[in-house]
Amino acid sequence: MKPKYVLALDQGTTSSRAVVFNSRCEIVAMSQRPFNQQFPHPGWVEHNPLEIWSTQSFVMENAVNKAGADWTEIVALGITNQRETTIVWDRATSEPIYNAIVWQDRRTAEYCDTLREQGLTERIREKTGLILDAYFSATKIRWILDNVPGARIRAERGELCFGTVDTWLTWRLTGGRLHVTDVSNASRTLLFNIHTLAWDEELLDLFDIPRSILPKVVPSSAVYGMTECPQIPSPVPIAGIAGDQQAALFGQQCIEPYSAKTTYGTGCFIMLNTGDKPHMSENNLLATVAWQRNGETAYALEGSVFVGGSIIQWLRDGLKFFSSSADSEALAASVEDSGGVCLVPALTGLGAPYWDPYARGTIIGITRGTTSAHITRAALEAIAFQVDDVVRAMAADTGHTSTEMRVDGGAVSNNLLMQFQSDLTNVKIIRPAVMESTALGAALFAGLAVGFWHSTDEIGTLLRPERTFTPQADPAEMERRRRLWHKAVGRSLHWAEQSE
Ligand code: ADP
Repeated sequence: MKPKYVLALDQGTTSSRAVVFNSRCEIVAMSQRPFNQQFPHPGWVEHNPLEIWSTQSFVMENAVNKAGADWTEIVALGITNQRETTIVWDRATSEPIYNAIVWQDRRTAEYCDTLREQGLTERIREKTGLILDAYFSATKIRWILDNVPGARIRAERGELCFGTVDTWLTWRLTGGRLHVTDVSNASRTLLFNIHTLAWDEELLDLFDIPRSILPKVVPSSAVYGMTECPQIPSPVPIAGIAGDQQAALFGQQCIEPYSAKTTYGTGCFIMLNTGDKPHMSENNLLATVAWQRNGETAYALEGSVFVGGSIIQWLRDGLKFFSSSADSEALAASVEDSGGVCLVPALTGLGAPYWDPYARGTIIGITRGTTSAHITRAALEAIAFQVDDVVRAMAADTGHTSTEMRVDGGAVSNNLLMQFQSDLTNVKIIRPAVMESTALGAALFAGLAVGFWHSTDEIGTLLRPERTFTPQADPAEMERRRRLWHKAVGRSLHWAEQSE
């Protein structure tokens, strides 16, 4: 019998990737290609949608070739993607009318301020679970409609399509037959009501966006249609779509309510499954749709830390403390503790739960005895302190204290960091053997939809932890350290505001 595979497309902010999984959830082949980041003005970030598609289609062909597979052996295709990034294209020609406006782009920040001054924050939060911010799609769509000549009139005539990156890829993969997005991506637009699970007329009016440009909202795991593009000679069912963090949550098997995962990459992304109802946050976290499958919707609370692993990059490239990020572990381990040094990595402000764009990085508690080892140790601990703050905000919101956390991302190879996180947050840390949680999540959604895998229980028997870390430290000592950290955070807040 011929082997069978599932193909996951993982369209990220800096590169497009494709991963081929076999029925044991093992990675058979992988391909990755970076693409151009465009910064036309300070604070603006754009991608060329055609380059997103060309790199994505290149890596998908390449991964299937590397796997030694034939397209007839690919039983399903799943998509996961950078979220919120906004593309508008011509329905008839499939040509984008403007570049993709990336989630990081701040051009609509002032418009968001205006809406905030009108007192709309709470109304928007109630419906969408999100904070009113330029990060999400709605204000980016509006910007394109108002700034590309003729766009608004064409949109009103039904000639244009809006999509997040999942929508764009599905459109291209099906030769323009499918204009869809899944619930998890829809829930990041500021236009989607997470209670009714539908586009919201009041929000569309508020942001002045014509309904005709919106995609149809579909579940995260279902057969949406077959591919219809020259790159895929024998059509494959497209059967899974989810935003990257939601896909990682599923790939980490955080299926039960109150299970959580943290991704330690450039930033840190903490997500907690809150079960079948949205849990509105009182602590500056986002409530979002995790996924929809088998007619059921799962929700999550989410908190993002802007500077995670990238503080280690800064010690490496900016301060030249070491030549590879992995060396941070040995240097930090060469001292017993940070020697009283606290480092607050607020290099680009602070994210959840502080949301202070004016906070700036701080290294405090330096004495004559302080060395690069102490500072490196403080930097690694700071990653853990930031995650701990979000985990505690989640516990305050839900009244539930997690005892476990699953982890992925580049920085989780650092054992000292993982042990400190376990000690500090008093959780068992589970590091999986398959580290590609995001791609795996997309593959699982697609594979479950076509019956390649039959249940999440079956998948649970295939996926094993690589290593676990359990709390070893004295909780009172950890509490003392936490107080010191919060004192340091206090010194970093509002810094840029005051110095202007
Ligand atoms: P992303 O997907 O956000 O680009 P990755 O998941 O590849 O990032 O993680 C890379 C980040 O993790 C970098 O910022 C790097 O400095 C950090 N990192 C990688 N290895 C280690 C390590 N052993 N210890 C600490 N940080 C690390």
